[in-house]
Amino acid sequence: MRQPFVAGNWKMNGSRETATELLEDVVQGLVSSHCEAAVCPPYVYLADGLRIAKGSELVLGAQNVSEEESGAFTGEVSASMLQDFDCRYVIVGHSERRGLFGESDETVARKFMAAARQGLRPILCVGETLEEREQDVTEQVIRRQLDAVLNAAGVHAFVEAVVAYEPVWAIGTGQTASPEQAQAVHAMIRARVAEADDTIADRLRIIYGGSVKAGNAAELFARPDIDGGLIGGASLDADSFLSICESA
Ligand code: PGA
Repeated sequence: MRQPFVAGNWKMNGSRETATELLEDVVQGLVSSHCEAAVCPPYVYLADGLRIAKGSELVLGAQNVSEEESGAFTGEVSASMLQDFDCRYVIVGHSERRGLFGESDETVARKFMAAARQGLRPILCVGETLEEREQDVTEQVIRRQLDAVLNAAGVHAFVEAVVAYEPVWAIGTGQTASPEQAQAVHAMIRARVAEADDTIADRLRIIYGGSVKAGNAAELFARPDIDGGLIGGASLDADSFLSICESA
């Protein structure tokens, strides 16, 4: 009953030329499938994304959004601006934003709400560091990250949202969580949301991110609570990304 979802997070990579080519290749290769596929290019290539993806199966998303609606916030981009470019999704709380740009759980919650207010669907990233996993506090960390948003936005805001479990130690490292490790955390996330609302939890798409490639996607996606993936490095190659979409 949950439609699989695969999103490419291009991060700060490429040029206008390579972005355009990648968009064209992904659009051409996306055969109508039961999986919803999205790409999140850098802001400045969203206009190209809008033009190239028009009328296709490919959906657009952004990698970040301001928690503010408009005004004197130099360098920020608002949720309504993203809507102007037909973005359906926006990533919030990616570990690179939390770690490198100091975004707190509260900031992430405000970004989540700013997106939701405009009808954009947030992809809320949660995940533990290697140190936290070794200290056996994975569950507490993820619960804290989730609760910050659940408490601020309310469980009904999760009707349109996606949660991405991204263990920080697996991002860009080539080290993937095993399907068992990922499934255990996904089940825990769903159970936490179910404490607030069973039906919403049942329908919530929880995707996995962290070194997903064409070769390991199928076994991850086969787990009952893994509804797709958030793909970094492998989304920069059209064939890999398309093959991951087909596995979902
Ligand atoms: P990766 O990145 O696939 O390159 O590990 C995933 C992400 O950061 O979303």
